[in-house]
Amino acid sequence: MRIDVLTLFPEMCEGVFGSSILGKARENGHVTINTVNFRDYSDNKHQTVDDYPYGGGGGMVLKPQPIFAAVEDLVAKAAAERLADNESEESLQEAVKPRVILMCPQGERFSQKKAEELAQESHLIFVCGHYEGYDERIREHLVTDELSIGDYVLTGGELPAMTVVDSVVRLLPGVLGNEMSAVTDSFSTGLLEYPHYTRPAQFRDWKVPDVLISGHHANIEVWRREQALKRTLERRPDLLEHVELSKEDIKLIERLKNETDGTHA
Ligand code: SAM
Repeated sequence: MRIDVLTLFPEMCEGVFGSSILGKARENGHVTINTVNFRDYSDNKHQTVDDYPYGGGGGMVLKPQPIFAAVEDLVAKAAAERLADNESEESLQEAVKPRVILMCPQGERFSQKKAEELAQESHLIFVCGHYEGYDERIREHLVTDELSIGDYVLTGGELPAMTVVDSVVRLLPGVLGNEMSAVTDSFSTGLLEYPHYTRPAQFRDWKVPDVLISGHHANIEVWRREQALKRTLERRPDLLEHVELSKEDIKLIERLKNETDGTHA
């Protein structure tokens, strides 16, 4: 996968993209991540990227020209690289149509499902805003997706873009040492993940649940499923509406609900 992040502050991203799992994924060739300062694409002699809003009001607006020029250049470069690699016409078509993702608080709320969808792509381009906003023509004529990381407003799109890049890259095959760890993560299964324990078996007065040290794998699986259901019911009952539940799951949820009702009565 190739990822380009358009930003006015590339230095903000380098620490994150160069460390931990992302750093290793880059080193091992699972992903290429470039940060690109779109100021370099400004055709203005002062290299300005923003201007006053038509109609007045506070704040500056990002101009369309540098962002269009940067995206178009990156798309052309990606296509040229693929041609040089002798790739098929089909994959070339795909490279010419990368997902261009605008980070903005007005976008679709980012989710694990969206991360899984983006992890299937071969080229992602993120556009990080700053200031008051973007010229609307960027939204209308350049981007394929608009993503928000939540209902709050940050100073710029760098932290949101890094958040999305991290969650997508860790899903690429081979990136996590043990691929199972992404499979059982919260939201991947539709539920929150079960609780974890490690040594010692007793810390202060608190013991690890007996089942986990029993060595009985089938019982451990049942316990983990029950705990995941319990935790989801307690913390995010809305998730249960979208997950496939077995008869045993439904019985357990009913029992847990009755216990809670009993506690409140
Ligand atoms: N005036 C804009 C509005 O009300 O929608 C907010 C602009 S914000 C100060 C500047 C930039 O930060 C945005 O263009 C976007 O790139 C980024 N940003 C801020 N909050 C975000 C969020 N929740 N999700 C994604 N990007 C965000």
